[in-house]
Amino acid sequence: MMATTDLKAIMREHQLMLNVCKDDDLSGDAKLFVLLAISLWSAPPADDPTIKRIGKPPRHSLRELAERSGHHSGMWWIQKVIRDDIPRYQHPVPDHRTCTAPMIRRDGECGKNAISSGVLYDPITGEGTWYGFCSRHRNHRDDWAIQQQNKEWDLNGRPSPPPNKGGVLRRYLKTDWDAYYKWAAPYATPLDGAKPATPPKPELRLIVGGE
Ligand SMILES: [Zn+2]
Repeated sequence: MMATTDLKAIMREHQLMLNVCKDDDLSGDAKLFVLLAISLWSAPPADDPTIKRIGKPPRHSLRELAERSGHHSGMWWIQKVIRDDIPRYQHPVPDHRTCTAPMIRRDGECGKNAISSGVLYDPITGEGTWYGFCSRHRNHRDDWAIQQQNKEWDLNGRPSPPPNKGGVLRRYLKTDWDAYYKWAAPYATPLDGAKPATPPKPELRLIVGGE
């Protein structure tokens, strides 16, 4: 840990920590991870003071952080935080598996318990749509159509939309993330890019004067 008496550096670090706390794209564990990393490792690089560098050799520099995390198996905890940050596309998943067949006489979906469900992929974009069919609405024609479309997506090389999850740690920590992802999840294939930042919640503010 590098101690500093540079007031500007201290203020920068303070601001950085506040930003981490306010970032709703970070889970509670991810926030703790970033805050520990900020407090443990070197000062922000001069070229980008909003970002911290974390050391390159994964296990070595992470050991100390693992110890301070307060978790019994700290390294496992870190691996999970990093694995959860792998940039990926996650199709929508409903809370309840209900029938999505559109109703004819009223607006909306059938809504009965689904006996068959899955994800229908767009063959070009890879965007996934969740579907479910109840015993009344399930039929061979739809089953067949879904099967054909998903096969087409597969033959197209399983294209994927840009990531809508993960890649959030790199907003605050600069390092060789590909190496970390590989360490945390050797079989995963991270997508290029990262989840776009969620716009901050609007704050209620009284604006006095102005143009
Ligand atoms: Zn139904």
